[in-house]
Amino acid sequence: MTHFTDLGLAKPLLKALAEENYATPTPIQTQAIPSVLTGQDLLGIAQTGTGKTAAFALPILQRLAADPKPAPRRGCRALVLAPTRELASQIAESFRTYGRHMGFSVAVVFGGVKYGPQVRALAAGVDILVATPGRLIDHINEKVANLSAVEIFVLDEADQMLDLGFLPPIRRIVATLPKKRQNLFFSATMPTEIGKLAGELLINPAKVAVTPSATTVTRIAQQVLFVETDRKRHLLAELLDDAKMARTLVFTRTKRGADRVARYLEGVKIRADSIHGDKSQGQRERALAAFKAGETRVLVATDIAARGIDVDGVTHVINYDLPNVPEAYVHRIGRTARAGADGVAVALVSDDERSLLKDIQKLTRQTIPAFDRRNDRGLGALAAVEPKTTPDRAPRPQHGRGGAQGGKQSQNRRRSRPGGQNAAAGGGKSQPSGPRSIAATQPAARWNPVD
Ligand code: AMP
Repeated sequence: MTHFTDLGLAKPLLKALAEENYATPTPIQTQAIPSVLTGQDLLGIAQTGTGKTAAFALPILQRLAADPKPAPRRGCRALVLAPTRELASQIAESFRTYGRHMGFSVAVVFGGVKYGPQVRALAAGVDILVATPGRLIDHINEKVANLSAVEIFVLDEADQMLDLGFLPPIRRIVATLPKKRQNLFFSATMPTEIGKLAGELLINPAKVAVTPSATTVTRIAQQVLFVETDRKRHLLAELLDDAKMARTLVFTRTKRGADRVARYLEGVKIRADSIHGDKSQGQRERALAAFKAGETRVLVATDIAARGIDVDGVTHVINYDLPNVPEAYVHRIGRTARAGADGVAVALVSDDERSLLKDIQKLTRQTIPAFDRRNDRGLGALAAVEPKTTPDRAPRPQHGRGGAQGGKQSQNRRRSRPGGQNAAAGGGKSQPSGPRSIAATQPAARWNPVD
């Protein structure tokens, strides 16, 4: 088994990792860190939740420390571009955490907030700058930022950048960077446009891929509930009756949908809030802070707003609407089962979403256990009925590939999934452990399995 000490990381970094209780590196960290340390470019196919931030932050910090020099005025030594404000803040936070014994300056720049503090932070120069593309372009145009001294450039969540229309600003930013630099490029998927951009940016990169299905197959108990569209919110409230759903992230397809669901839940006395692109930065930060603090039990989010949200201890992810793009399902459910914990993901699927479900199952190469709630009108009367599934206190099944795998992973209490990757590639047909899944969600209810 690989340890952080095997990866050639310096003492101050190892100390910070020990303080964070990171026992072992995740697969992307094991594969990426040694080549990034040598100065090689990197192409990483990985989504949030795989430990990819540390995979680039740790070697960047080490490389900057190996060649000490003052931060360039109005510029930075390492530049990280991220698609959303939340993700940019979290990346900056990770640099601060891992680099806490090294004394580097870190600044974050994104839209929706005042320019003044960002201008002041940039004036003297910073070692590490994390930015969203739009606001960084403003600073470049205003000559507040000058990126001619960048030594290492990271493009994170490139496919999301494409979805948000950020490719033109990214190309403009890249044009202001010096030619000689190290490039690290991360994307969860590789649409043609993104492959093309990677080809333009990277020179002889090391390639590292951590497939999303590693996460979905081994760690997250998944469940589909077929339900009529107009009964979804009742079913959601009913599911939330279970106190085990302590910190639940609900996904809707639209911003208005997110607001509607949050309002409904508040109406039935379930503490909920919504987070999406129409909310101000302050509102988003407050909603996230209350969710992290456990004051709000349910956060209803759209994909963009939730992308990169890093909240430990999300117990459940509910797909209130299925996403149009199957990859988004993997991103969504990846918000649970973080940092070594197991998680539960439930999808409420109406008839008109069945083809979307098919696409998701094709992508993740698994059939998600399904239950039919469409003709089930007496929701309240179900509580006393014997569950069809294993109660959650029963020992985890050790038979069946998915279950055994998941049990072992959770004993380890770590993020590293050396077997997970292989399981994803070789064990594509493995089923998630059905018994674990619904038992953890709703132990006392009667579900009507479809098949
Ligand atoms: P990321 O994929 O970068 O968003 O990381 C997801 C989460 O995993 C974050 O909460 C990290 O703090 C955590 N994490 C990253 N690497 C490790 C590790 N080696 N061991 C335990 N937790 C980790």
